Amino acid sequence: MMKAVVLHGNKQLTYEDWAKPEINNGKQVLVEVKVSGFCGSDLPRVFEERAHFYPIILGHEFSGLVVECGTEVSTLSVGDKISCIPLIPDMHDPNSLMGNYALGKNYSFVGSRIHGGWAEYVVLPEENAFHLPVSCGYKEGAFLEPLTVALHALNIMDYQGGKTVAVTGMGTIGLLTMQCARILGARKICVFDIDEQRLEAARDMGADFCVNTADPDHVEKALGYTNGKGFEVVLETAGVPFTEILALKLAGAKGSVMFIGTPHKNLLIEPEVFELINRKELHISGSWMSYSAPFPGWEWEFGSELLADNRLSLDPLIAGEFLLSEAPSTILNIGQNAQKPGKLLFSVNGGSGK
Ligand SMILES: [Zn+2]
Repeated sequence: MMKAVVLHGNKQLTYEDWAKPEINNGKQVLVEVKVSGFCGSDLPRVFEERAHFYPIILGHEFSGLVVECGTEVSTLSVGDKISCIPLIPDMHDPNSLMGNYALGKNYSFVGSRIHGGWAEYVVLPEENAFHLPVSCGYKEGAFLEPLTVALHALNIMDYQGGKTVAVTGMGTIGLLTMQCARILGARKICVFDIDEQRLEAARDMGADFCVNTADPDHVEKALGYTNGKGFEVVLETAGVPFTEILALKLAGAKGSVMFIGTPHKNLLIEPEVFELINRKELHISGSWMSYSAPFPGWEWEFGSELLADNRLSLDPLIAGEFLLSEAPSTILNIGQNAQKPGKLLFSVNGGSGK
């Protein structure tokens, strides 16, 4: 047996005994989970009856230690530090054959379609355990998946340095996207949020301009930073109607607007706002998950290096660190607050350190 946080139904999370998973084919590894995160995408699963099945163990952002390898495993050994690669693609899907692993219909996903990492142990296919550099801590390892989401958007839009960049929404993905845009050579970065604390965090991480969207003049103010030209690159990470519209207003002529945030609400666009796409000849694109060829992709290789080399500021992204046993009460308490304060991390098997 092991301990796990199990979702039995809407808002029914319990910390309980659960059968310890076992390797059932030669190509799997058994992972002792060390640090496991709570993702924004887990909110609807826990609070809006959006889990694929019950009871389920959620958790797709986690790091751990390989403690057992199947007989055919060749790229990992017992004692390796890993981070979970949650997407299990259907490799026969035409999209996967083209290297677009997350765009197929029949993929599986650790922590949403199969049991995940809010538990002491998880069995993963060998290809779904990313071997972390030795200098990468478990806490950092738990950030690899959200970090790859940020890097994927920049990867598929052929992001280049030397440009003016706007990032809307300073949640976990927004703050990571902003830092990646900076590392990849942005000329100036302007960030947007309604929370002054989040903007302050962004400033500490290297944002050049921080604009509070509660300010009625926020668009004019922001465009002023580009001498009225608008931004060459706009990265939308909040997934709410307000910022989805703001992104179109912030882009300059021929600008690129990338939608990263997952939308949850209806969006009503007035014709004069939609027309901005025409008038400015905008390049509109979207990003989904974080995978590219060869699987899992550049996002994971580069992301793990950024983490191992401590090139990202992660501590301000963390809202709190708890034991796995504290996860149900922590999640249920936080969930009742509309505002998301940042990433919740759960330490498992004593794994909060390196
Ligand atoms: Zn996630």
